[in-house]
Amino acid sequence: MQGLIDTHFHLDMYKNYNEIYKKIVAEKQYTLCMTNSPGVYLSCKNIFGDSKYVKFALGFHPLNSNLKEKDLRDFMKMLSWTEYVGEIGLDFTKRTGIKKEQQIKWFEKIVETCSKENKIMSVHIRGAEEIALKIIGQYCPRRCIVHWYTGNVEFQKGFISLGCYFSVNASMVKNMNILSVIPKDRLLIESDGPYSKVNGKRFFPTLLLEEYELIAKSLNEPELIRVIFDNFKNLLLTK
Ligand SMILES: [Zn+2]
Repeated sequence: MQGLIDTHFHLDMYKNYNEIYKKIVAEKQYTLCMTNSPGVYLSCKNIFGDSKYVKFALGFHPLNSNLKEKDLRDFMKMLSWTEYVGEIGLDFTKRTGIKKEQQIKWFEKIVETCSKENKIMSVHIRGAEEIALKIIGQYCPRRCIVHWYTGNVEFQKGFISLGCYFSVNASMVKNMNILSVIPKDRLLIESDGPYSKVNGKRFFPTLLLEEYELIAKSLNEPELIRVIFDNFKNLLLTK
C-alpha cells in the first residue's frame, strides 16, 4: 500500500510532541509540519532534525502578533535550509494580531521570494481571498498549496487557474461546493491537527486513514490514497 501523506500538521502545538513524532514515524506517514515563526522552525529543527517522514516548514503566520521585521530577516536567512514554507498567509477575520497592511507587505515579500526559489508553500487565507489572489497571480508560484480554503467558489476558480493545489481535511466535507470544484490532480490531504476533528475526534496521527476514508467517500474516489500520492509526487518534482 502507498503511504499516507499529511500536507499540513502542527506538531509543536501538541503537548506530547515527542510521543506524536514517534507515532508518525511508526505509522510511516509523510507529514509536513507547519511552524508559525522562524524561531519555532529553528527549535523544531534542533529538536528533531529532518527525517524521512517528518519535514518541517518555515513559517510566518499572519495571526502571530509577536512577529517583527527581524523575524522576516531571519526567515529569509533560513529559507535556503528547507524546501517547505508554511504556515504563511493572510487573515483579515480577527481584530487582534498583525495589522492588515503589515500582513500584506510581509506576505507579498514572502511569496515573491519563495516563488523565485520554487519553494513548496502552504498558505492560509481567511477573509483575504481577493488580495491573496492578486499577490499569488503576480508572482505565479509553481508549488503553492491553499490550505483549508473557506472562501467563495469564484475566487477558488482563480486560485485553480493560477495552478494552486488545495489541501483538504475532514471538516471540509460539509462544503461540497468547494471540495467538488478542486481538479483531481490538484487535491492533497491535510489534517491541520490539532485544530481539526475526524468524526468528532480531535486529530491524532492514527486518525489519518479515517480522514482519507471520509474524504474518499464524500468525493466518491476509492483510489484516493494513490491519487494523493501521485499528486504529491508531482508537486515534489515540479521545477
Ligand atoms: Zn494550520
